[in-house]
Amino acid sequence: MFLENFEREILASQTKPLSGGIVASNLKINDNRTGLLTLTGDILITLKVLDLTTLGAFRIQSLMKSSEQTIMNKLRGGADSDQIIFYEYSSVKNTFTNKQRTYSLKYNFNYTAKLIQINSLSQLAGNDFVLALVDGIGHRFTDMYGRKYVSGGLAKKNGGPAAVIYKEWEKNYLIGVHEFFHTLGLPDLEESGMENRLMYHLGRVGSNITNNEKAAMNKFIMYDLRDMTKGSYSNPGYNTANQLRTFLNDKSNGFIYNKAKFR
Ligand SMILES: [Zn+2]
Repeated sequence: MFLENFEREILASQTKPLSGGIVASNLKINDNRTGLLTLTGDILITLKVLDLTTLGAFRIQSLMKSSEQTIMNKLRGGADSDQIIFYEYSSVKNTFTNKQRTYSLKYNFNYTAKLIQINSLSQLAGNDFVLALVDGIGHRFTDMYGRKYVSGGLAKKNGGPAAVIYKEWEKNYLIGVHEFFHTLGLPDLEESGMENRLMYHLGRVGSNITNNEKAAMNKFIMYDLRDMTKGSYSNPGYNTANQLRTFLNDKSNGFIYNKAKFR
């Protein structure tokens, strides 16, 4: 009876499609027994794009394609983390015990990225990622040297919504990727000498992502290693639609967009 129930449960979890910004399957942990855990599996990152521009985003399809390719390329290829202290992993049982142990992590996920255009808030699930295309952003920021800058895009870190001025995105699609990587937890860079980096934000963005940045995004994506033992995983809710509403209405951000499209 137990076995039968167990089988049914597995079947149900296999047929119920997972959804959200992060959907992972075929998750496996390889333990080399000397303190290195290698994490593998297939991870689909989905970013929903909402056009809130007054005049329309005519190049949206090709911009989404380029962004999709770049997000995929930047996340792929593996990353090594610094040492972490976590629960001890038992490879025999594929569980984490309640003892603690120091590990190094090798992220070796096979990433796919997908950008999907949506037309209304009803197409946003609570655990989706979103990039809104707007007409303008009034927000000015001050860099570490005290100089003021206009913003081509804005984002809330760690799962929050991102927005980009469509005209700026058209000029350089990497601005959209930059904003989305804030969603995946990366901070801005301002030091001189970092002009070639994707997270540099003083007037332009480069395209380079380092191993540490890649590891930080992997850490955000697979935050609780215990989720690895379930075989498949989708991220918990960020309350995305509500967060987007608050973000767009926040006067200090100064978003200009077609409010009639925000429904
Ligand atoms: Zn930024």
